[in-house]
Amino acid sequence: MNIHILTIFPEMFQGPMSSSIIGRACQKGLLSIEPHNLRDYTKDKHRQVDDTPYGGGAGMVMKAEPFFEALTELTGSPKQKKVGRKIIMLTPQGATFTQKKAQELATMSEIIFLCGRYEGIDERVRQTWVDEEISIGDYILTGGELATMVIIDALVRFLPGALGDEMSAQEESFSDGLLEYPQYTKPATWQGMTVPAPLLSGHHEQIRKWRRKEAFKRTYQFRPELLRGRSLSIEDQILFAE
Ligand code: SAM
Repeated sequence: MNIHILTIFPEMFQGPMSSSIIGRACQKGLLSIEPHNLRDYTKDKHRQVDDTPYGGGAGMVMKAEPFFEALTELTGSPKQKKVGRKIIMLTPQGATFTQKKAQELATMSEIIFLCGRYEGIDERVRQTWVDEEISIGDYILTGGELATMVIIDALVRFLPGALGDEMSAQEESFSDGLLEYPQYTKPATWQGMTVPAPLLSGHHEQIRKWRRKEAFKRTYQFRPELLRGRSLSIEDQILFAE
């Protein structure tokens, strides 16, 4: 997968995008991440990327031109849609990012992220180029860069070969609509608190059932709305009847 990021702060991506699982995925060739400095697509000597808003008001708005220039260089034209490519604008008005969306984006071959700053991006960029608008939550960040990193971090976990254990991303919270079961590591007893017996049993089926029940309990306790409208599978009904 090739990821391009249009930003006025390309340096923000250096550390986070070259460390840990993301860094290893890049080294393995599963992913390439290329930030592009929007100032390189300006034509004036001050390399200006923003201007005052029409209609007045506080703050500045990101100009359309640098985005148009960069996107034309990367894609040809707005009409040249390519299967497997998505142009995504980070914006508080977008659909809230979810684990399901991360999994879906991991199937793309190319994603171009547009990072806003100031009061946002000239509306004509959205009208002309954008395939999808994503928000990472109901709060206002100073820019789209951190939101982009959040999305990359979540989607990389679904790239085949990016995680050590292929199953891990499928078993995590939200992937099956439930929060994850509690996790423990050694020692078996710590300050009088003991690891639940099924986890120490070495019995795979017992462990699987305990984890499934705990996942339901956790979800009911912390995010009951995730269970709303969910019907129990036959297997889960048997599990709860035991
Ligand atoms: N004036 C805008 C508004 O009220 O909706 C907020 C602009 S914000 C200060 C600057 C940029 O940060 C946005 O253009 C967007 O790219 C990014 N941003 C802010 N909050 C975000 C969020 N919750 N999710 C994704 N991107 C966000």
